[in-house]
Amino acid sequence: MKFGGTSVADASRFKDVFNIVLGASRSDKGMPVIVLSAMTGVTNALIDCANTAANGNAAAALEKLETIKQRHYQVVTEIIPDSSQELLISALDVDFNRLSVLLQGIAYLGELSKRSLDAISGCGELLSSKIFSAYAISQEAPAVFLDARTVMITSDDYGKAVPNMKELTAKSKKEITPHLQKGKWVITQGFIGATADGVTTTLGRGGSDYTASLIGAAINADEIQIWTDVDGMMTADPRLIPDARPIATVTFQAASELAYFGAKVLHPLTIKPAVEKNIPVRIINTLNPTSPGTLIVERADNGETVCAIACKKGQTAIFIESAKMLMASGFLAQIFNIFARHETSIDLITTSEVSVSLTVDNTDKLPQIEEELKQLGDVSVMQDLAIIAVVGRNFRAESGIAARIFKALSSINVTMISHGASSINISLVVSNKDVEQAIKLLHAEFFALTAVRS
Ligand code: ASP
Repeated sequence: MKFGGTSVADASRFKDVFNIVLGASRSDKGMPVIVLSAMTGVTNALIDCANTAANGNAAAALEKLETIKQRHYQVVTEIIPDSSQELLISALDVDFNRLSVLLQGIAYLGELSKRSLDAISGCGELLSSKIFSAYAISQEAPAVFLDARTVMITSDDYGKAVPNMKELTAKSKKEITPHLQKGKWVITQGFIGATADGVTTTLGRGGSDYTASLIGAAINADEIQIWTDVDGMMTADPRLIPDARPIATVTFQAASELAYFGAKVLHPLTIKPAVEKNIPVRIINTLNPTSPGTLIVERADNGETVCAIACKKGQTAIFIESAKMLMASGFLAQIFNIFARHETSIDLITTSEVSVSLTVDNTDKLPQIEEELKQLGDVSVMQDLAIIAVVGRNFRAESGIAARIFKALSSINVTMISHGASSINISLVVSNKDVEQAIKLLHAEFFALTAVRS
């Protein structure tokens, strides 16, 4: 059970999380591992402290740290019984003293390495999980605190460390499973890990979901639950489509596609370990715990054919046209090579005999890429575009999906179309200015009827 930052935003949320875990531990599913994020905003605030220190402003950095400290101590005073407060405060003091020394060191040096930043930004999870553990124990729950760094061994790529699944599995057998078997809850942190030498690392922003999925896979969990502040993955962005609704069941493949398209409820890497072990992932709302959320599974035979309309704005399309391409082999390889050399990843691609159209979202190296592409043919670039993805399942086997999409979009100018690469996605490129209208039309086409029915 992973709880995100908004699930531990304040004292009353800590209590809500406790009640949810208590309910789960009384079900017949066995004992939970609880993976906590930092309290909402704390990771950003810690990074801000580090940057302030790196700019040489030690006093301001320490002042900001004091605000973070007070926020945590406020929760402690509100939920921890007086008799246990002193012990917890002295444990939290250790972390805050370390943070203060680190910030002063950074300010003296005027330099912030990725390694130092991880040592600082990873602290929020330690603080929230220590408080939650103390609270659970004060409520006589059979809770055990686990420092994630003893099991989550990673590479030393600070800021985006790569977990060692083999180590995690082996260490979990000693540090996690025996506690669960004895009827205990294991409370630990998302986001952080450590190198084999014990240096703190982080898995990348939003990485707590990934931690939960990795631990779930390591211990062969029945289910990986991501507790957040929405009712699940939605049929479209609810800010755009007020009648967007949660998707009940979705396949791993479609969920990764949606995560990639910015469905912020799930870190894109989360699905990977779950897929490898075929463990269902449930996204569920801490503020609405009785709603079933979204269940992500290997096969969703009863799911809708189209499950969501997603979009990614700020895309750029590049069109290459060349008669040299006619009957020539190796032409595409030359084009891809140029993008590879400039470390720019291509999202969508469509080709005809003499032209290639593709989209990118990182345009940092576009001028150089354009220069090199010009040696292959005529190049034109279009900016301010958006990719719309109609995501679902079995598109290859069902007829009529494309017809419905294009009928719905008859008033919208579509720049590119891509289908065939997977049977779960039909992607279209439209102008940024048309994207909202296009999504509204598509959502009405695929979800209006079922919305009325439900
Ligand atoms: N606290 C970390 C972040 O804000 C990790 C997480 O919450 O997933 O990025």
